[in-house]
Amino acid sequence: VRNLEKKFGEHEVLKDISFDLFEGDVVCIIGSSGSGKSTLLRCINHLETPTSGQILYHGYPLTKDAQTINRFRSQVGMVFQQFNLFNICMKYLEKVGMAPYVKAKPHQLSGGMKQRVAIARALAMEPEVLLFDEPTSALDPEMVGEVLSVMKQLANEGYIVEDAPPQELFNNPKEARTREFLSRFMQG
Ligand code: ADP
Ligand code: MG
Repeated sequence: VRNLEKKFGEHEVLKDISFDLFEGDVVCIIGSSGSGKSTLLRCINHLETPTSGQILYHGYPLTKDAQTINRFRSQVGMVFQQFNLFNICMKYLEKVGMAPYVKAKPHQLSGGMKQRVAIARALAMEPEVLLFDEPTSALDPEMVGEVLSVMKQLANEGYIVEDAPPQELFNNPKEARTREFLSRFMQG
């Protein structure tokens, strides 16, 4: 994101925002209500058109033509504050622990369950980026945990346990998980 600005009329909501996101990053945006968190996410996904500045994806600026934006959107899933559900597939329901409810109607699910299904729907696009806009703010407190734990689990899926030159990684691994993994090959 480069020098992003968004105005609604005279109201300047986003001012000169620049940051980078890399594969595996988990980034949180915090701020008071009305400070522009949703607007920032919506600009990233081009649900809002930035007033100025650029969103670059894999180094390429997004142009305003519909085809480019649609291709980009298919790589960037979004989970909203309010869950809106449509058809999704089993694989992703399993990922969020909702496969047993495949035949349930939305009104038969709790808020936490609906939001887990909404996460599955976003995952079904196999996006490279997932934007979460306060996905737990509309939930009763006792349902927040189940949604957060699904998000944590997803964040850990593409995790690089250790990154080091081969000599160091094989001879002197720092992480317990790397040691344990390598020991299976080094035996005998
Ligand atoms: P947050 O998500 O941090 O609560 P928002 O991004 O929803 O904040 O809103 C930031 C500001 O932009 C608010 O003052 C809000 O009223 C205003 N705003 C958001 N969307 C629009 C819009 N479509 N038209 C006019 N003002 C908007
Ligand atoms: Mg918001």
